Amino acid sequence: MTTNPVLPPKAPIYVTQPFLPPLEEFMPSLRAIWDAKVLTNGGPFHQRLESALAEYLGVRHIALFTNGTLGLLTALQTLRVSGEVITTPYSFAATAHSLLWNGLKPVFADIDPLTLNLDPDQIEAAITPQTTAIMPVHCYGTPCDVDRIQRIADTYGLRVIYDAAHAFGVKHQGDSVLNRGDLSVLSFHATKVFTTVEGGAIVCPDARTKQRIDYLKNFGIADEVTVMAAGINGKMNEIQAAFGLMQLEHVDRFIARRGQIAAHYRRHLSGVKGIRVLDVPAHTVANHSYFPIFVDEQYGLSRDALYERMRSRGVHARRYFYPLLSEMPMYRGLPSAARDRLPNARLAAQQVLCLPIYPALEDLDVQRVIDLIVER
Ligand SMILES: *Cc1c(COP(=O)(O)O)cnc(C)c1O
Repeated sequence: MTTNPVLPPKAPIYVTQPFLPPLEEFMPSLRAIWDAKVLTNGGPFHQRLESALAEYLGVRHIALFTNGTLGLLTALQTLRVSGEVITTPYSFAATAHSLLWNGLKPVFADIDPLTLNLDPDQIEAAITPQTTAIMPVHCYGTPCDVDRIQRIADTYGLRVIYDAAHAFGVKHQGDSVLNRGDLSVLSFHATKVFTTVEGGAIVCPDARTKQRIDYLKNFGIADEVTVMAAGINGKMNEIQAAFGLMQLEHVDRFIARRGQIAAHYRRHLSGVKGIRVLDVPAHTVANHSYFPIFVDEQYGLSRDALYERMRSRGVHARRYFYPLLSEMPMYRGLPSAARDRLPNARLAAQQVLCLPIYPALEDLDVQRVIDLIVER
């Protein structure tokens, strides 16, 4: 008698998956919170996480937020940014939305086709008398051209706020990339390299700025009887902070495992016709937060066709960033959103596919993703 073995269906693979250690590991912290009955407003876990992160990241001051978007909103308020802000169309909605929420005008400039970060020449060309700041993104954790951006900012008297949502732990020329510009904003969302479930932070260079940020994230309350500005409620709570301290114990291992996966993809996909991988620039310690590939016409399938094919086989890659911010209804009427001004961003939005990468992804699954791309 012959039986037809029915292979079990393969579990779907998503682009990312948070790492959750055994629940027991979190219990002592929860118990401490229960015992202390301090749930938020800068409690002991909040303070411990701020110190631990400042040390881990190699930055002077860090202010925790309940999410990265409120960090971006508050960073702009901290520096009293006004008028026009030059930013990238190739990012997540929160980057440009933080400008609209502050009544600022986003001005999109095109990206460099190799790094996918703002092109300094395009930044300079977009400056007008109304420009007061630049908000670049270290896209996929690749450091921006921070030296040139700073030179432009110094020449024209502009502020620089980095959306560093992808750049946790990234080093550039031996120093944290978060120390560049006036402020850097991190996201600790569950999809990021380091997570507090939802969460974020502003990195700043001095204690006075940190003080202002701490007021602004607590309604602007300076003391019992003084409200110094129309601040927002952006405070991280104790449960989030405790979760972050637990994640921090593992983060080096996570990043190392991500690096192995990235190396595996790189080895097997670099030679595939029509597929290009993003280079890690020299003098950079990467965090391997994403693994984008470019699918061009030589591949034989369009990026979208490959995306659909992978999906039908249970592999959920993501088209980050598509559509461009400049194509969204709230931005597409801006003069700087005109399609012919952003050719590099448009091509990237058409070609890039981010492959699954997360610490628990096993070698066999990495190979399954690679096979789907190589097979065609
Ligand atoms: C994730 C992300 C954000 C927003 O962070 P949240 O913590 O989800 O609010 C902002 N910018 C970029 C580029 C991101 O990827």
